[in-house]
Amino acid sequence: MESTVPPAPTPVPSQEFHAVPANGSPEVAVAPIGPRTPTLLERGSVMAFFAACAGLCWTIWRQTEGFGWLWVLLLATLGFVLADLVSGLVHWGFDTWGRRDTPILGPTFIVPFRVHHDDPMDITRHGFAATNGHNCFVSLLVLVPALLLPSTWAITPLVQALILSLSLGVLATNQFHKWSHTEQVSPLVARLQAWHVVLGREHHQVHHTFPYHRHYCITTGWLNRPLDAMGFFRKLEWLIERVTGVAPRTDDLGHTPPKADPSAT
Ligand SMILES: [Zn+2]
Ligand SMILES: [Zn+2]
Repeated sequence: MESTVPPAPTPVPSQEFHAVPANGSPEVAVAPIGPRTPTLLERGSVMAFFAACAGLCWTIWRQTEGFGWLWVLLLATLGFVLADLVSGLVHWGFDTWGRRDTPILGPTFIVPFRVHHDDPMDITRHGFAATNGHNCFVSLLVLVPALLLPSTWAITPLVQALILSLSLGVLATNQFHKWSHTEQVSPLVARLQAWHVVLGREHHQVHHTFPYHRHYCITTGWLNRPLDAMGFFRKLEWLIERVTGVAPRTDDLGHTPPKADPSAT
């Protein structure tokens, strides 16, 4: 499953580190995570993910009388739109709230997101299982229940098709995000990026550009412009701060001058 880890590429200027430890204290500084061997859980999750997807495909195929390719296309698109929304919410959540030393969530989720801000090229140094293992594990939490839905329900194949598409979108999220930072991608991937079928390079650079709190969606990026235009995440932050009294981004973005921002000088 694991491919040979390529040598670490040199970061390009547009991918300058965009955050440093919020309060500047060395004890919260996080060293970039280098290439690493995926854990047994990550490898097992990838294998179980593809096995569950194959099982779901077979189950849907046996029940497809009554809905054809138009439905498949519609649900596949809807699943990727939902995956894009989920990617934006999760990304925003771990960028905005919590600290690197928050129990359980800190080392598992918050640190990888914030290391990515310190070193955007880090994601390109990991192989397939290390990149996608966590997302495969999370997807299994919906894939397995979907497999167990009663085949006698008329709506079952539609729900299963939507969950299959959503799960594939969740799997694709880290891979598309990785490609958006990879200097050399295959011509096919480059074309898909240019057509905005997958997350585009320039499109995603908006997130890595001051003030660093836009374009959180990292599957296809289709929802970024509408959500930013609505002020969706700013409104959510305002609401959460009002209810909990906790300010957003106290441990990362926006509290230190960005290195690459000309207006900060
Ligand atoms: Zn981010
Ligand atoms: Zn990124």
